[in-house]
Amino acid sequence: MIQTDICVIGGGPAGLQAAIVARELGARVLIIDDNPVLGGQLIKQTHKFFGSKKHYCGIRGIDIARILSHKVEEMAVETINPATVIGYYDDDSIGVLKHDSLFNVKAKRYIFATGATENMLTFENSDLPGVYGAGAVQTLMNVYGVIPGKKALVIGSGNIGLIVPYQLLQAGVEVAGIVEILDRVGGYYVHAAKIKRAGVPVYLSHTIIEAQGKETVESAFITRVDENFKPIKGTEKRIECDMILIAIGLSPLCDLLYQAGCQIQYIPELGGNVPVHNEDMMTSRPHIFVCGDLASIEEASTAMLEGRIAGASAFQTISGENSNAQAVIKDAKSELSIIRKSPFEQRIISGKKKFKKG
Ligand SMILES: Cc1cc2nc3c(=O)[nH]c(=O)nc-3n(C[C@H](O)[C@H](O)[C@H](O)COP(=O)(O)OP(=O)(O)OC[C@H]3O[C@@H](n4cnc5c(N)ncnc54)[C@H](O)[C@@H]3O)c2cc1C
Repeated sequence: MIQTDICVIGGGPAGLQAAIVARELGARVLIIDDNPVLGGQLIKQTHKFFGSKKHYCGIRGIDIARILSHKVEEMAVETINPATVIGYYDDDSIGVLKHDSLFNVKAKRYIFATGATENMLTFENSDLPGVYGAGAVQTLMNVYGVIPGKKALVIGSGNIGLIVPYQLLQAGVEVAGIVEILDRVGGYYVHAAKIKRAGVPVYLSHTIIEAQGKETVESAFITRVDENFKPIKGTEKRIECDMILIAIGLSPLCDLLYQAGCQIQYIPELGGNVPVHNEDMMTSRPHIFVCGDLASIEEASTAMLEGRIAGASAFQTISGENSNAQAVIKDAKSELSIIRKSPFEQRIISGKKKFKKG
């Protein structure tokens, strides 16, 4: 059994920041991540981030991942990857699978930063090869250098539904269109404008009803929807494509938190079922902390700030009150409150207020 002070599960922006802070404050820290390269979603984000300098604006996601991973290495944070945490046990240890070996890790505190999973959609033939999660296509293309098709139809116009088709265009793939069930585009204007300039048709108030193809996707049927999101008969349109990318949102990956006995609450504003946590990112079990997309589906910038709060809070529950930790928490909370003033972040504020007391 491997023992440590703080074990961080998930090496995305949230987990890496949590580990860096906890290590800086003096804890022995171990990160476990199931990817060969640390960085979580950042390793596939080839576009430049925006926001403030403090949150790496103007730097590409892949480069932010490199900066954080380098810091982790420099600070001698222990890492085990690629390895998957497969269970949380009654003795408060976790099970880790690395290649063919299974072993246990026991930490004084755990910080879960496992991120999110892509939501899927059911329609006729939605199991046909060629139907992908948009994030999966981004991984194939930007991490493994594989372009899985020649002409894409994207379902959903949030930021992922806008960024991934733009990157497909950059890679020489044709984008047949973006289909959005609402009457407006969901993502940021800056991403929508790029798509518009590239001439990609955006079908508002539309949804997909069927994929067609013998063995793989050859085309899709979309249809206009009424104000109750019901298909309007006679408005069906056939679109030729060999891949369909589903980009209809993410759900927090909280399976391990269920096993750990943490309270979970359904809060749509935060992305669905999320672990109940306080402002210090502590769950209903005081030795378990959470941060990032697992705590609320947001962005890399907020994930990093929540990670900093989780790292410092977890450290303080071991060391006792610590002025350096308190300074980190204060600083991160004040930055979070600035970011969350944006109209896009209002749902997060109202979602976080919904946690049951006790
Ligand atoms: C396609 C896409 C594009 C995006 N574009 C932007 C953008 O332009 N700007 C922006 O700010 N945000 C963007 N985001 C959002 C941003 O990437 C996320 O908010 C951020 O990465 C969340 O960080 P995280 O550390 O919580 O989770 P993640 O980055 O998802 O990291 C979680 C890590 O935990 C690992 N993990 C999960 N379960 C286990 C387990 N059981 N054992 C071991 N390891 C595990 C995962 O493999 C992953 O490496 C995008 C997201 C996606 C999906």
